[in-house]
Amino acid sequence: MLPPVGRGFGLPNLRRNVCPHFYMTGSRGAIPIQAPHLLKALIRQDANISRCQLRGGVHLEQGYVNDVCLTPRFNQCVFYEDELTKG
Ligand code: SF4
Repeated sequence: MLPPVGRGFGLPNLRRNVCPHFYMTGSRGAIPIQAPHLLKALIRQDANISRCQLRGGVHLEQGYVNDVCLTPRFNQCVFYEDELTKG
């Protein structure tokens, strides 16, 4: 049996460099993250606010997003670990 072919070929690789809890809201609401390589450009736009699903309402600092949320180091984020320990 062949493994199922995932939708969005090529995306899973990139996705691992972005925390799954990261999202952004712009003037029209949540921005779907379909192109992780575009995120760094999007977060530089003042109208867009970086947010974390695990930290309701908190606006993430751009520096933190660049250093943690949008890097393979997101698994070192204290909030990310909190989620894991919840089981
Ligand atoms: S704050 Fe931590 S858990 Fe939240 S999006 Fe960033 S890396 Fe992920």
